[in-house]
Amino acid sequence: MSEVYIIGHKSPDTDSICAAIAYANYKRITGENPAAKAARAGEINPETEYVLKNFGIDVPELLKNAEGKKLILVDHNEFQQIVDGAEKAEIIEVLDHHRIEFKLANPIFFHTEPVGSTSTLVAEKYFDKGVKLDKKMAGIMLAAILSDTVVFKSPTSTNRDKKVADKLAKIVGVDPQKFGVEVKKAKASLEGKSAKDIIHSDFKDYTFGGKKVGVGQVEIVDINEAISRKREILKEMERMTTQEGYDMIFMMLTDIIEEGTELLVVGDMDSSVTKKAFNAELKDNSVYIKGMMSRKKQVIPPLEKTIS
Ligand code: MN
Ligand code: MN
Repeated sequence: MSEVYIIGHKSPDTDSICAAIAYANYKRITGENPAAKAARAGEINPETEYVLKNFGIDVPELLKNAEGKKLILVDHNEFQQIVDGAEKAEIIEVLDHHRIEFKLANPIFFHTEPVGSTSTLVAEKYFDKGVKLDKKMAGIMLAAILSDTVVFKSPTSTNRDKKVADKLAKIVGVDPQKFGVEVKKAKASLEGKSAKDIIHSDFKDYTFGGKKVGVGQVEIVDINEAISRKREILKEMERMTTQEGYDMIFMMLTDIIEEGTELLVVGDMDSSVTKKAFNAELKDNSVYIKGMMSRKKQVIPPLEKTIS
């Protein structure tokens, strides 16, 4: 029997990797597809690396080109996101939780539902069929659900995700909230990153009223760790204003657990702009703003209005 690769999207996240591993395991155990094999369409991120290591599971094989292969897609269905060579592969099934942007000449198994993660759907298959789940498989699916739903805080999270996660957490023997923080920490830790790395992990340039403005954001789970790095980050931001021509730089240290942002600001009129845009008082070039999570929705519009 020829191999069937179960694979998630390019730039894989924890759900894409863990759903592929757990679904391949399910296919083999149930005999639905004894030749099922998990694969990945790119490098894994630090969060996924932490999860796999934690449960002693090998990183799936990297599939650089899927030409001539049989594929089951998990966690995606849009063609731009599918592994290279997919147009010359045979897609036999899709299991996903995203909007549908898919078309194929042949009939295939196509299963999508509006839940918070693909791993929720995979776990439900195990439960529905009464397939035995060990700690490893339960653990990686739990981690994927917690990752995709941002520990149930994302608007995409549903009751089904919560219910499935609770069942998986019992098998693993962890508290889902606490374990969720551990998983998120792996990605959000500032450890080993320079101030420059932190600023540039997600940094965007804007021009407002002829001013060059930079706004960076980093997800954190430990506000104290972030605050202990504040001096260093501000120093690098100041260097960027003098040497790289920025008029103002805003750096969002966003605490995804407490749901708020420590906002660091340097540059022209930093205090007056921050006061006007966010109704917040800077102290030592920073201020904590409760509820601030989104650069796109909560930071850019008021900044543009104030600076322009
Ligand atoms: Mn994904
Ligand atoms: Mn997903």
